Amino acid sequence: MDNSDILTAHEDAITEVTTDTKFTPWIDGEQYFPDQDVTIETIDPAVTRPITAIPVCDSDDVDAAVKAARDAYDREWAATLPAERVTMLRKWVNELRDHEDELTRLECLDTGKPIKQARGEVQAAFDTLDYYASLCRTIKGDQIAAGEDLHAYTRKEPFGVVGQIIPWNFPIWSLTWKLGPALAAGNTSVLKPAQDAPLTAIRAAQLSTDIFPDGVVNVVPGIGSDVGNALTGHGGVQKVSFTGSRKVGELVMQSAANHIAPVTLELGSKSPFLVFPDANLSKVGQAIADGIYYSSGEICDAFSRTIVHKDIYEEFLDAFLAAAEEYTCGDPLDEDTTMGPLTTADQYESVQKYISLGKQEGSNLVYGGGTPAESLEHGWYIEPTVFTDVDNDMRIACEEIFGPVQTIQTFGSYEEGIDLANDTRFGLSAGIGTEDISLAHRAAADLEAGIVYVNDYGPILPEAPYGGFNESGIGNDLGEESLNHYLQTKSVYMNLENPTH
Ligand code: NDP
Repeated sequence: MDNSDILTAHEDAITEVTTDTKFTPWIDGEQYFPDQDVTIETIDPAVTRPITAIPVCDSDDVDAAVKAARDAYDREWAATLPAERVTMLRKWVNELRDHEDELTRLECLDTGKPIKQARGEVQAAFDTLDYYASLCRTIKGDQIAAGEDLHAYTRKEPFGVVGQIIPWNFPIWSLTWKLGPALAAGNTSVLKPAQDAPLTAIRAAQLSTDIFPDGVVNVVPGIGSDVGNALTGHGGVQKVSFTGSRKVGELVMQSAANHIAPVTLELGSKSPFLVFPDANLSKVGQAIADGIYYSSGEICDAFSRTIVHKDIYEEFLDAFLAAAEEYTCGDPLDEDTTMGPLTTADQYESVQKYISLGKQEGSNLVYGGGTPAESLEHGWYIEPTVFTDVDNDMRIACEEIFGPVQTIQTFGSYEEGIDLANDTRFGLSAGIGTEDISLAHRAAADLEAGIVYVNDYGPILPEAPYGGFNESGIGNDLGEESLNHYLQTKSVYMNLENPTH
């Protein structure tokens, strides 16, 4: 396929997904047109051509969305029974399933993810909603042993209106991590998608028409520092959940603190993978390559720091490079493509700067580092890249690059390996390569991270809580934990009189 074939294929695909759909904010159960006449253009990163222009919201529109969400909560949503919410959530999943191909193509075009990966994430998003539909009917309080004249119990209650903000790297999957538990718990939501990839969030909201009462799901696309900030600081928002960068996470927390709204934060990381001398190197090499090159490395839990025992360093490098070679840049619409472009121009420039920085810092670029073949020259592509001779204090080893850049360093003893792995302000995930079960359990306990993979990368089950230690976040998405983050507990004391008759 040459350049012009790719351009034509993308133009056709863009026409197909945008012809019958108008992408606008979604407030109070319908398309919403802000008074201000400002739009953002979302770009197909494989060909750097606009997909569509979306009217952006401002703080007045956030007011309208929060009001719609509050009205829906007071009018009917607060009184819905879990069983009724299950029915609605399942109806929504079925409707979304009927649009799987459309959502997959939208996600692929909007983010540049290879279509196979986009499809997998769209299906995982359905599974997440399905899981929260199942969990909905488990919400219950406790009875507390009190006394003959006292009955005490707890009630689990929703907060009311929750404000939710998602990034561009896993748009539809993140959306379901937020909306699934929030709606199951009985809250209404105002959700802000990222300006760089808002299409599946808007389409998913449109596909909830006539399923949830108007105002239960609201989507306010716009600029983070404007709309996002208005949402997190809004006095009518009782709970905030954010996925994004460490830097913005801090701003979100400050903004929510102004009105004492609790926050759940899923932030970035610089995740280590420790490879012990007994590891099965082809298995572990593959897991680490998946952990840094899946989704072009634009993954929050990317295994971007490989820390290998010095005795097996050369063999590991061979195994890892063999696995890295399977990731080749190509057209995301092609079913055989394993690596697409980076999603945004900013990210493309930032990753290139880190690659230059890695060379300046004295590490050794042993693989990739460039842009691929001419046929992909219109896209924001960067090849899978590997640096060796890396020290933990180099910026490429400390800072989240959020791209397909692997750094490899060595360790000599168990303690040194664990110390190097934990020598980071982040703590989202960590990996362990070993065939020794005792060693795996011991390292899993010693690593400071919210998620640990042993000889693996990739499975994310809706049942398993997902969240970071240290500066990678507060609280969890997924699992029962996340449902609980969207519930508050009330204790009720009831005085019992002696029977009079
Ligand atoms: P950002 O933090 O820049 O943006 C995330 C979201 O926050 C976007 O919707 C953005 O809006 C919005 N935003 C920006 N500024 C503000 C503000 N002042 N107040 C409120 N909202 C704001 O992150 P990226 O979009 O660049 O996403 C990548 C980051 O997300 C990485 O650090 C990655 O590790 C992390 N991430 C973490 C995950 C996890 O589960 N732990 C999962 C996925 C990603 P807009 O972009 O429209 O301006």
